[in-house]
Amino acid sequence: MDANQEIWQHIKEIVSKDVSGTSMDTWFNTAQVYEFTAERLVILEPSSLKRSILSSRFLPNIKAALQELLSADYEVAFIEKKPEEKEKPGQGQDGDDYTFDNFVVGPSNRFAYAAAKAVAQSQPSQYNPLYIHGPSGLGKTHLLYAIRHEAGKMHPEFKVVLARGADFMNELILAIQNGRKEEFRIKYRDCDMLLIDDIQIIAGKQSTEEEIFQIFNTLFEARKTIVFTSDRPPQEMALLSDRIRSRLSMGLLADISTPDFETRAAIVLNKSQQLNMNLSMDVVNYIADNITSNVRQLEGAVKKIHAHRELMGGEVSLSNVSEILKDMYREKTAYVPTPDDIIDETAKYYGISPKDLRGKSRTREVAQARHIAMYLIRQLTNLSLQDVGRIFDRDHTTVLNSLSNVEARISREKDFNLVLKDITSNINSRDD
Ligand code: ADP
Ligand code: MG
Repeated sequence: MDANQEIWQHIKEIVSKDVSGTSMDTWFNTAQVYEFTAERLVILEPSSLKRSILSSRFLPNIKAALQELLSADYEVAFIEKKPEEKEKPGQGQDGDDYTFDNFVVGPSNRFAYAAAKAVAQSQPSQYNPLYIHGPSGLGKTHLLYAIRHEAGKMHPEFKVVLARGADFMNELILAIQNGRKEEFRIKYRDCDMLLIDDIQIIAGKQSTEEEIFQIFNTLFEARKTIVFTSDRPPQEMALLSDRIRSRLSMGLLADISTPDFETRAAIVLNKSQQLNMNLSMDVVNYIADNITSNVRQLEGAVKKIHAHRELMGGEVSLSNVSEILKDMYREKTAYVPTPDDIIDETAKYYGISPKDLRGKSRTREVAQARHIAMYLIRQLTNLSLQDVGRIFDRDHTTVLNSLSNVEARISREKDFNLVLKDITSNINSRDD
């Protein structure tokens, strides 16, 4: 029996002095201790009836037993089931294959690479926090995992915590709901290195910002290493509070931009070698010439050619390659977010429900969010004014008014563009 169940056994023995055997058998027979910390005892009981009886009728007995056993006051909480195991960050894998060794360095990323490496190797870091920013698909996540990998090799005793900004936020929300904020804080504060990927998601989410700020200060003062990645520099995050913006900016900012031709070609070579595939130089150059903005796409192209070769056999000629890649372009340009995605993200951004956003409310905040959602749907999809009107159950002149409202704000309000950029980026990084 583990320590928790042992405690529970003792508690039940004490409680049973005052409670009948039948009651004990009825109400205490399936409950288990989920967790027992310095402050709280959390009891797992799937039945809602039993949970409610335990907490309404027997809570004083349980607390008294704890007092008798351990001479201290404990909070007692009941849960229905174990919180779900949290997914690891990254695309379902642990990012072990993202290392400094397989990161191709060129002028567009050399500085970020060097900074990341320095941070991974030296402790305490001279560059704290390190803030790596750049558009999607250029290697930010790769560098973050490489830092963890390298730090793990150099300092095996280090406790490294790596999380996506979105996970951080969701965990925090859950922790607040379950009254477990302290555990949340401990998890993030009690580490030697905190690495947060895609921090831009927290912009404008006040309680998340505040929590990051606190954790950040604690770690910073303890000279622990902190690294953030983001799709834009702090000063371009419109909704970020000034306080946290200046905190984020006070370390080292390193940007990654789109790779030049030589770097793209080197990446193609590198990725094809990883797949044990030898591409001729003209094929490599062709890919590097045609896929220019995004390393993730370069990688996708190489994988596609590899799959093609596996399936069809033989060598890959230049004409094959242009065929295969043409297909890729088509897929790429065919991608558009759905109106639902846009509505969800806009609503989330303003902390209102998608239902309200679609509804009839005329409060200023909801109406403005609605204007923005309409505007973004027009921008990001091929839908007509009528189509957009139908989505919101309004006619096309209403949609037109909304669009001009947004356009007026773009020209009038200095930072409004950034708001649109924020939301668009959230839309594009859904389930990324
Ligand atoms: P971001 O986080 O900036 O959106 P990722 O780090 O996820 O981008 O990179 C996308 C893909 O491209 C990953 O598979 C990564 O390994 C690869 N990649 C990006 N930059 C490089 C590079 N310089 N060398 C090798 N692979 C790279
Ligand atoms: Mg990333």
